[in-house]
Amino acid sequence: MSTTNERYWAERPYAGQKALIIGVANERSLAWAIARELHQGGAELAFTYLGEALERRVRPLAESIGATIVEPCNVSDDQQMELLFKKLGEKWGKLDTVIHSVAFANREDLEGRFVDTSREGFRVAMDVSAYSLVALARYAEPLMTQGGSLLTLSYYGAEKVVPNYNVMGVAKAALEACVRYLAWDLGPKKIRVNAISAGAVKTLAAAGIRDFRSMLAAAAENTPLRETIHQEDVGRLGGFLCGPGGVHITGSTMYVDSGAHIMG
Ligand code: NAD
Repeated sequence: MSTTNERYWAERPYAGQKALIIGVANERSLAWAIARELHQGGAELAFTYLGEALERRVRPLAESIGATIVEPCNVSDDQQMELLFKKLGEKWGKLDTVIHSVAFANREDLEGRFVDTSREGFRVAMDVSAYSLVALARYAEPLMTQGGSLLTLSYYGAEKVVPNYNVMGVAKAALEACVRYLAWDLGPKKIRVNAISAGAVKTLAAAGIRDFRSMLAAAAENTPLRETIHQEDVGRLGGFLCGPGGVHITGSTMYVDSGAHIMG
């Protein structure tokens, strides 16, 4: 007898979906967990990478799940974004899902005092981590002819002060606001825009935050479930939001954080 899980996947909830995944750096990336979930449910995927060094990591991963579109994309570069969406238009003619799993701040701005953030450090963090979602939505809109779903990744540091998260907390606050404004603009076209606010997971990006180990330890001790989350938790919620379960969910930030956000 098949398990509930096997029956769910047998229905291939994302069959026919074309999904663009931005933000895989390696197999630990949260974007990779969402990609695997969508792939398992029948979606066809395209991946991007930032620079040649990461291409060497991303291409084999993409190929391991049958993806044939693997393109460069620096989200701060309008020309690269334009080219990417032109290629997607030519190859697919439509797009259903975009996963935006991208953030960056200068290392010196992820430690010490937030008040010392430079003008340039603030600009870079905002551009890569928040504005890029707006630009992506604008490029994706013409291809989402049958509606669609945009999904981004946030963190609790958007709402409350998390020491060392600093300028990234401010960028995530902007990102969550972007989600709401984009949801209003794109809603009439049945394009949904949501964020997942994930608990701490050890990834490449997380390693850039000073004393990230303390964030992980706090997540293991001070959350209702008394344990950290796994990459797969983000994958499952991402799949849910981009699939049939999410059809009337938009403008939301949903938590997968062992309950961390309810703590005072
Ligand atoms: P990761 O390092 O695997 O992914 C970050 C990605 O951002 C990388 O693929 C990197 O190439 C990409 N990136 C950075 N600058 C870019 C640019 N200019 N253009 C294109 N891509 C760029 O780490 P991750 O933890 O999987 O991060 C994914 C998202 O999840 C980020 O938005 C992060 O803030 C968020 N998040 C992470 C955690 C965590 O604890 N790991 C918790 C909550 C939210």
